[in-house]
Amino acid sequence: MNSNTLQAILRTLPKIDALLRIPQIEALQSSYGREKVTQALRAMVEDLRAELVEKGEQAEVLKAWTTGLPGRLAGKLGNELESSLRPVINATGVLVHTNLGRSPLAPAAIRRMADVATVYTTLEYDLEKGSRGSRGVHAQRLFGMIFPGRAAHVVNNNAAAVLLALNTLAEGREVIVSRGELVEIGGSFRIPDVMRKGQAILKEVGTTNRTRLADYEEAIGANTALLLKVHTSNYRIVGFTAQVSLSELAELGKRRNLPVMVDQGSGNLVDLSEMGIGAEPPVATLLDQGADLVTFSGDKLLGGPQSGILVGRADLLERIRKNPLSRALRVDKLTYAALEATLESYARGRARAELPVLRIMQQSAESVGERARHCAARIGELTGDRMRTEILPGASLVGGGAAPTEEIPTILLAVSCPGKSATELECSLRAGLPPVVARIQEDRLILDLRTVLDGQEEDLARAVAALAGVSTR
Ligand SMILES: *Cc1c(COP(=O)(O)O)cnc(C)c1O
Repeated sequence: MNSNTLQAILRTLPKIDALLRIPQIEALQSSYGREKVTQALRAMVEDLRAELVEKGEQAEVLKAWTTGLPGRLAGKLGNELESSLRPVINATGVLVHTNLGRSPLAPAAIRRMADVATVYTTLEYDLEKGSRGSRGVHAQRLFGMIFPGRAAHVVNNNAAAVLLALNTLAEGREVIVSRGELVEIGGSFRIPDVMRKGQAILKEVGTTNRTRLADYEEAIGANTALLLKVHTSNYRIVGFTAQVSLSELAELGKRRNLPVMVDQGSGNLVDLSEMGIGAEPPVATLLDQGADLVTFSGDKLLGGPQSGILVGRADLLERIRKNPLSRALRVDKLTYAALEATLESYARGRARAELPVLRIMQQSAESVGERARHCAARIGELTGDRMRTEILPGASLVGGGAAPTEEIPTILLAVSCPGKSATELECSLRAGLPPVVARIQEDRLILDLRTVLDGQEEDLARAVAALAGVSTR
């Protein structure tokens, strides 16, 4: 290209100032600010220049570029500011899916958060005295109703609860744990590491598969501070095994004047066996069996916001609250608001009816199947017979960090599309809007409607229809 042609191209490039005066673009400035819009326009004009230099042709390219400009600019600005935290449809059938943000909150929790979010609150203010109060008072009355005679404390998550408890009760001293319970939960939470960071000294006893009471007893020395039991919430040891029951350990603790702590994990507060789900003892049972302190997450089976909860003997909780680390691990008003609303459901005996995670758990396989068939029919309506659907029995999972091996019978929807692999379909579903997370089983794309929330069914059917190239927008 000779320099004359290049000059000609550069002369025809639109001027930024002129573009900024286009009414639709002017409007964008009130949302995004003049500077951001100008920046985006510069980048777009630069792309145009490159295109013109490459193609050499001007009028056509320039016309096409100008026609769609406001729309493309709006899209570009929107994309740049788009949140990476977006809703997804969980069609995996894993109830407490840590990667998908664990438990969805109940509407009452959302309302309570909204009530306090945009205004000043009594977070740390005593209205009677007209002076500074303590955020530690929030949720206390509800915990008192759910765990009579015990004290409680709320921190950011269960990892923080364990760290804080170990540091408070066993700094520079020994904590005795069974080798079968030295768990890792989700990569970064490993009991031995948390122990070290809490400045406690880990004393392992027994073997991976068998630990006896005598092992604990023999390990107790002058520097022992705590007996710890950790719920093995993402694996099971089966076969030739022996574990010490909590009651036995608690009895030993009393005899030797040592507190017994249980890292329970899931925050299961109701008797799940009534729902046909395994033998996970609720937190209250652990306290009844003699645990002095129990720690658990607020966002697993409890069904509340991300938080860590410590419940137990008042004197231990008093020491825990006074630990300066508490300040670093404290929660904000939104967490208290959502947690209080969630706990209120338990205090009123309405948790099973009101909390999404427990409702999802209680859906019968038949009713999940009915939703699956309905979804299959809708997919058929949208795509003709371009998508194949099949209904088959299967299992939903409670999920890691809660009840790992616990399966709930369900009815699954398998979908396939001639000429496309299950992997391709799964990948396209994830790229959709809203993204759908599904699983692949025996080379089939599997959707479990159990974890698809009320009101998401139509979006799911449309997302599947889009796999067959059916546009539903
Ligand atoms: C989930 C879990 C944790 C970690 O809890 P977070 O709330 O994720 O910090 C610790 N211990 C056990 C036994 C758990 O199940």
